[in-house]
Amino acid sequence: MYIPNMKKLEIDITHNCTLQCFNCDRGLSLLQGNKNTTMELAQIKRFVDQSISCGQPWEQIRIMGGEPTIHHEFNEIIHIMYEYKREYNPSLRLIVSSNGYTAYTKRKLLWLEENYPDIIIENTNKVDNYQQGFNLIHYAVCDIHNNPNYEYKGCWTTEACAISLNASGFYCCAVGGAIDKFFKYNIGIKDLAEVNVENLSKMFNPLCSKCGRYQQLQVDNNNIEVVVSATWKKCLENFDESDCLDRY
Ligand code: SF4
Ligand code: SF4
Repeated sequence: MYIPNMKKLEIDITHNCTLQCFNCDRGLSLLQGNKNTTMELAQIKRFVDQSISCGQPWEQIRIMGGEPTIHHEFNEIIHIMYEYKREYNPSLRLIVSSNGYTAYTKRKLLWLEENYPDIIIENTNKVDNYQQGFNLIHYAVCDIHNNPNYEYKGCWTTEACAISLNASGFYCCAVGGAIDKFFKYNIGIKDLAEVNVENLSKMFNPLCSKCGRYQQLQVDNNNIEVVVSATWKKCLENFDESDCLDRY
C-alpha cells in the first residue's frame, strides 16, 4: 500500500487550460474547466487558515492546474500563498507549475519572477497537445482487472509526488481529484483536520480503479485521439455537467 504524502500538496486552482492535450492527466481533453472546477479566493484563504490552525508541516506546495496563470485571480492567489510562506512557513518550497505556452502566460511568468523571486517556477514549455510520458488516465484499470473485489493500493503519485486540493476538496492525488469530477463520488475532504493517511487511502478503490496510471498505461505520439476504456465511455455517456461536486 502506498502512503499518501502529507508534506507535499498540489493545488489545482483551475481546470481551464490553453492546451487540450489528448493525454492530459486532468481529463481536460474530455472536459475543459468551468466555474465549478475553478477555485475561488475564499477557498485559498480557507486553505491557508486551515494550514495555520492545523500547524500542517507542508514542505512543498505546487500551484498548478490546468494552466494556473490564466486563473482570473492568479495574482491575488500568489500573494496570499506567498504571505503564508513568508509569515508561517519560511522553508516552504512554493512552486508554480505552468505549460509556458501562450504569450500571456509568458508575461505572467515574467511578472512572477520579477515580483516573487522566492517562488520557484516550473515551466514545462509545452509545444503541442501530446505530452510524452503522461499516462492514459482515461483507461480504467478495473476494465483490465475485471475483478470487483480487487483492492487498489494507490501508486507512486500519492507517495512521491503529493496529495492534492482542488475546488472540491482534498484528494489522495491531483489525478484522483480530476477523476472525481467525472465519476462524482463527491469524496473531496473539506477540512484539512480530517485529511490523514486513513481517509486518503479510502479513495484508492474508487479512484485508482478508474485510473490508467495505476498500471502506467501510455499511448504513443502517433495516436492523436483521446483513448477511453469501457467504464469511462459509459461514464461520459451519462455525464451531466449540471450535477456538480460539493465545493471545498
Ligand atoms: S498543458 Fe497540462 S493541464 Fe493543460 S491540457 Fe496539457 S496536460 Fe492538461
Ligand atoms: S488515482 Fe491514479 S494517480 Fe492517483 S494514486 Fe490512484 S493510480 Fe495513482
